[in-house]
Amino acid sequence: MSELATLLQGAPAEMMMKVDTLLPWQQSYWHDFQHALANGRLPHALLLAGASGLGKQALAAAMGAHLLCERRDTLAAEQISCGQCHSCMMRKAGSHPDLLVVAPAEQAKLIRIDAVRAVNDFMAQTAQQGGYRVIMLSGADAMTVGAANALLKTLEEPGERTLFVLTSDLPSRVLPTILSRCQRWTLAHPPYQACAAWLTAQLDDADEAQFWWRIADGAPLRAVRCGRGDWRQLRQKMIELFDALVRGAEPAAEAARLDKQPLLDVLDIGIAWLEDLIRLGLSGDERGVRNVDVLPLYRQAVKNGRVRDWYRLLDYAHEQRRLLMAGSNPNPMLVLESWLIRWAALLRS
Ligand SMILES: [Zn+2]
Repeated sequence: MSELATLLQGAPAEMMMKVDTLLPWQQSYWHDFQHALANGRLPHALLLAGASGLGKQALAAAMGAHLLCERRDTLAAEQISCGQCHSCMMRKAGSHPDLLVVAPAEQAKLIRIDAVRAVNDFMAQTAQQGGYRVIMLSGADAMTVGAANALLKTLEEPGERTLFVLTSDLPSRVLPTILSRCQRWTLAHPPYQACAAWLTAQLDDADEAQFWWRIADGAPLRAVRCGRGDWRQLRQKMIELFDALVRGAEPAAEAARLDKQPLLDVLDIGIAWLEDLIRLGLSGDERGVRNVDVLPLYRQAVKNGRVRDWYRLLDYAHEQRRLLMAGSNPNPMLVLESWLIRWAALLRS
């Protein structure tokens, strides 16, 4: 997997092994990190919080790689690691004894107490390479209460030269006892100028870069994911499907066209459209719309439905999304049919 592919869909452990360059919009966070390190003010535990697609895991991986590199003191200002010392080689091979990566087994799964026991066992040993120990814990909001409680003591007194880097898309769901033991860094959405060149390079076109950046609500990694491959095709399929609904197609039959498509992605695309519709319905201002290519559909929808109707559809989508994320396994076709029937009723009433 290339570095970009790892950034877009890699597991945290892969991120730790593969990510060797700093994302251009993260320079200020990197400077803060280096400054804290140089002045002996690096906390024991950091929580990187912020929306999905900003590069939290890449930044966490960069911090970890930097701390573990044996030639750290000789690196240039924005160089993450030398990539060649014994420690870097072990990290890249995924076998560094002083590095532990903990993450939910897959999306929508939890971090259970067993995983945290492994952290505590790891912490009971001294650093084998004589340098830092790094624990990268992704999806801190996915820890069960038991797991979080088991982590508290270790997080409070991790010992010298240890860094916990936790990441979370949903910091409001991280237990307060965990939050209070971490220094929190909230990653902001970068201004377009800060990521424009990078996005243009990834998407091969400046207009495409800006288009997908807007659709991704300003999250650069998400913009690349949206603008490429499967996700882009799914979105196009949904645009065609909704056009068919407006023209009177049968929702249940249309739902079948999305059979085998990831329900989470379908819901996310629809949620973004509903948010556009609600903004448009409230303000009447088309300039606030993110999915500009869906405007013809919105104009039709705004004629028929009211803002409170869109809120209902949005609530339904959020609820199904929450169930999916909580690990319950709704029947995707039933969810889709039910949702599309409600959409259809509003698109042509
Ligand atoms: Zn190195």
